[in-house]
Amino acid sequence: MQGITILGATGSIGVSTLDVLARHPERYSVHALTAHSRVDELAAQCEQFRPAVAVVGTADAAQRLSRILKQKGLHTQVEYGEAALCAVAGAPECDVVMAAIVGAAGLMPTLAAARAGKKLLLANKEALVMSGQLFIDAVNINGATLLPIDSEHNAIFQCLPHDYRRVPHQHGIARILLTASGGPFLTRAVETLDTVTPEEAVAHPNWVMGRKISVDSATMMNKGLEVIEAHWLFGAPASQIDVVIHPQSVIHSMVSYVDGSVLAQLGNPDMRTPIAHALAYPERIVSGVEPLDLARLATLDFAAPDFDRFPCLKLAYEALRAGGTAPAVLNAANEIAVQAFLDRRIGFRMIDQVIARVLGKVQIQSSVSCVDSLLEQDRLARLEAYALID
Ligand code: NDP
Ligand code: MG
Repeated sequence: MQGITILGATGSIGVSTLDVLARHPERYSVHALTAHSRVDELAAQCEQFRPAVAVVGTADAAQRLSRILKQKGLHTQVEYGEAALCAVAGAPECDVVMAAIVGAAGLMPTLAAARAGKKLLLANKEALVMSGQLFIDAVNINGATLLPIDSEHNAIFQCLPHDYRRVPHQHGIARILLTASGGPFLTRAVETLDTVTPEEAVAHPNWVMGRKISVDSATMMNKGLEVIEAHWLFGAPASQIDVVIHPQSVIHSMVSYVDGSVLAQLGNPDMRTPIAHALAYPERIVSGVEPLDLARLATLDFAAPDFDRFPCLKLAYEALRAGGTAPAVLNAANEIAVQAFLDRRIGFRMIDQVIARVLGKVQIQSSVSCVDSLLEQDRLARLEAYALID
């Protein structure tokens, strides 16, 4: 029996993870579930999965949760705040951590899981984008097992040789091909992008996801963050990572080899597949996802990405090439700009403009020396972004 902590249990990835776990009660028990403010949802999850600990964002939320759990007769211990998130991520009762908090808020607890040497299922791409080498060092030094949940990276992981991590540059890998659906605005007239609403931006054609990543998919910043994520996970330089538009989201990504072979992983667009893969790795377990019906699909389309339509993708490649703290600054500016767009304070086309200007203003450091200096860069980038938006 393996103990699991889910950071971000009430989110889209958290709920899909619990759906998979519920199919395998003989393999997994839930040690801790965390949320930020959705107390009622977390209480219902506690009732079903009986974790030892539940963590929320504030003292007030913790009080509300304790009250509900008491009414239900549950004995789950309730905690709040970042230190409690880090504690449940590193707890000895937990073997596996699903890192599914959205954004930079997930950095410290995800790092705590790496530092405690856990089997770490990484959905929270922003944590890796921000901290890069620092994160990979924490994984390696502490003997953690890092498994990608992002569908593209999970696909690439499945298409790489098993011993890839140990000898990264000796496997005849030519290129990593990240597929991208192109989001809801792939074919919409560029002149009209100024007027899109948050509702239109979060309506992804193939995936049901949280609001932030849905907007990232519409700007294609999500793919940009994934290029950076692929760089750190697989040790490939920016020049070896390509983005291919594939509107059906059936091929989740590919690896091309020097002999001309291209390996792909296919499946219905449902996050329970990569979640089940990483949970059971190297075994395979049932995920609840329908098998793929290729004859019904009939066609798979591909195209090159249009960097003029999606300037965020270009900004992300530039940040990766710049290195150091540039990806952290890009990520912070993006988080603020996306929230401002969701709050209807800026238009859709302002998102990339805010990020570009913040990248031009914040003094980028050439290496990420420690978490504190990283958090300081994150803070400065957020301040610049707020100032621009105001
Ligand atoms: P959601 O917005 O659906 O869920 C986010 C989760 O994080 C919720 O449990 C939320 O709690 C919690 N949370 C939010 N803010 C904080 C905070 N400040 N401190 C602690 N916890 C917080 O996001 P998704 O599930 O869509 O995405 C989660 C991560 O996975 C993201 O990094 C995303 O990029 C990545 N990912 C998601 C995919 C998807 O299909 N959804 C695919 C690939 C990657 P509460 O509910 O209380 O607000
Ligand atoms: Mg993805």
